[in-house]
Amino acid sequence: MPFKALQLSAPVLRGVVAAGYTDPTPIQLRAIPVVLGGGDLIGSAQTGTGKTAAFALPILTRLGAHAARAPRVLVLEPTRELAAQVETAFRDFARFTDLRTVAVFGGVGYGLQRTELKRGVDVIVATPGRLMDYLHDRTINLQGVEILVLDEVDRMLDMGFLPVVKDIIQRCPRQRQTLFFSATVPPEIQAVASFALRNPTRVEV
Ligand code: AMP
Repeated sequence: MPFKALQLSAPVLRGVVAAGYTDPTPIQLRAIPVVLGGGDLIGSAQTGTGKTAAFALPILTRLGAHAARAPRVLVLEPTRELAAQVETAFRDFARFTDLRTVAVFGGVGYGLQRTELKRGVDVIVATPGRLMDYLHDRTINLQGVEILVLDEVDRMLDMGFLPVVKDIIQRCPRQRQTLFFSATVPPEIQAVASFALRNPTRVEV
C-alpha cells in the first residue's frame, strides 16, 4: 500500500514525497490509521523502523495546516540527540503547512529556545529536564496539549526520568490522545503505560 492510500492530508503527503519516501514501513502501515482515528497507541518498536514518521505524519494531519501558536502536541524524548532528530523530522514533514515546531533540551542556553517558544509553537519536542525548567518559569503551559507522545520510554526509565515524566503527564489535560513507544514493555513500563493510556491499541513490529 502506498502512502497515498493512508488518508494523510495533502500538505503532509507533499512532505512525505519531498522526504523521498515511497512506501510506508510496517509500523507506519499499522500505526498511522490508529493515530488518525484519535485512539491511544502502545508501540513496541526500535529506532530504525520508521517509528518517527509513524507518529509525526498522522499527528501533523490531525493538527491541520493552520497554526494555533500554542502547544497542541508534546513529544518527550530521553536524549537531546533524539529530541533534535525527531524535531527535525516534524519540521521537514510540516514544511508545506504553517505549523511551527521547536526542540527543547538541556546542555545549551535558554535564550534561543525561549525566544522560539515566546513566538508561539504548535509542536514541542523535549527532554524531560529542560521542559520542567520551562514549566516552572511558565514559559510553557501544557493545558492546550491534545496529543502527548512518550517516545523511547524504556530509555527514559533507565535514565531515571520516571518521576519527572509522571509529573509532566499530569500537567497535560486528561482528555487527550497519548502515544507510547518502548522497545520492550516489561511490567514496570506496562505500569507507566496503564497510567498514561486509555484503551490503547497495541502495535508490535
Ligand atoms: P526512525 O525509526 O524513525 O528513526 O527512522 C529510521 C530511518 O528511516 C530515518 O532515516 C527515516 O528517514 C527513514 N524512513 C522512515 N520511514 C521511511 C519510509 N517509509 N521510506 C523510506 N525511509 C524511511
